[in-house]
Amino acid sequence: MEQRMVIIPKFYLVLALIVFSLPSAAFPQLKTRNVILITTDGGRLQEMFGGIDADVFKSTNKNFQKTAEYKKFWADTPIERREKLLPFFWKVLMKEHGSIAGNRALGSVVTTTNHMWFSYPGYSELLTGEAHDDVIDTNSFGQNRYPSFLNFLQKKLRLGHDQAAAFGSWNAIAEIATNDPKAFTANAGERNSSIDDKEIALLNEARALTVGPGPGVRHDYFTYKFAAAHLKKFHPRAMFISFGETDEYAHQREYGRYLQSWHNFDAFLKGIWTFLQSDRQYRDKTTIIVTIDHGRGNTAKDWDDHGRDVPEAQYIWMAFVSPDVSLRGEWKNTPELYQNQVAATLSKFMGFRYEEQNPAAGKPVAALFGK
Ligand SMILES: [Zn+2]
Repeated sequence: MEQRMVIIPKFYLVLALIVFSLPSAAFPQLKTRNVILITTDGGRLQEMFGGIDADVFKSTNKNFQKTAEYKKFWADTPIERREKLLPFFWKVLMKEHGSIAGNRALGSVVTTTNHMWFSYPGYSELLTGEAHDDVIDTNSFGQNRYPSFLNFLQKKLRLGHDQAAAFGSWNAIAEIATNDPKAFTANAGERNSSIDDKEIALLNEARALTVGPGPGVRHDYFTYKFAAAHLKKFHPRAMFISFGETDEYAHQREYGRYLQSWHNFDAFLKGIWTFLQSDRQYRDKTTIIVTIDHGRGNTAKDWDDHGRDVPEAQYIWMAFVSPDVSLRGEWKNTPELYQNQVAATLSKFMGFRYEEQNPAAGKPVAALFGK
């Protein structure tokens, strides 16, 4: 009896210590224990919300109605068209697990705060939470000099080298994702996966002996497989996965290939989601943001382009999938969101205030936290 009276208070003391030392102590209601940011480079709003764009396709190919892509992705209404292009995203992810902002026709707007409207500034804004137009005005910026939310979460959670990770199809992704190249796994473009495995060895060889979709860019399939292998083996708690083919084929005015890249992106999302939900660490404990670095032109003339001379490219979309958020489908008539809010939003889901690292960063997206 006496012994019990001693044991019980000790047990509660230990329990209290454990509970209050968890990183989410500041936001005790949250289930999130892992965060992943996923992007597809310059994937337009027009395809995300309306599927295949006949005017654009026609401008690149008079016989577009005879192409395999038209036959595969055409349907009478925008809703049917987008569901053919992105079946997993629209029919599963947005119906059962998440929501998307950025459909201007419904009164939801998401923009970049940088005024460059090309890749390096866009990814840097997503990852660090702040635009730096005065400094970052080229895709050849090299190693980022500003720390990202991956650097922040790695420090806060004392994560090892493999527990924070960035994977990208474009070489520069490894440099944009961190201001310290040695801090965590950063695998992009022409880099091999370092995982010691027969299938990965074959993929490394295939990557090296395959002509990529553009200079310094590998096919998205390699990025998908390398990132998936890393997830399985190292179970990172903070991750960035960046796909690149949508941008490459758009620049080349290869609309059919651009559509197929979108469709593959949907398959990658399905593969990643299926793994996450089959794994104890990730299932119902992982928050994902899916978005883009920049938009592109809106017409048959400039759909392939983006950058300072294409203001339409400032408009982006942003999807949120989280066990802590009950919003589903499309956002309607909501306040404007900004690209610089992603770093603070993902940090908040993990129980941290990103402003500790960067007071100038965009604030967490309030609507996701019930405010
Ligand atoms: Zn581009």
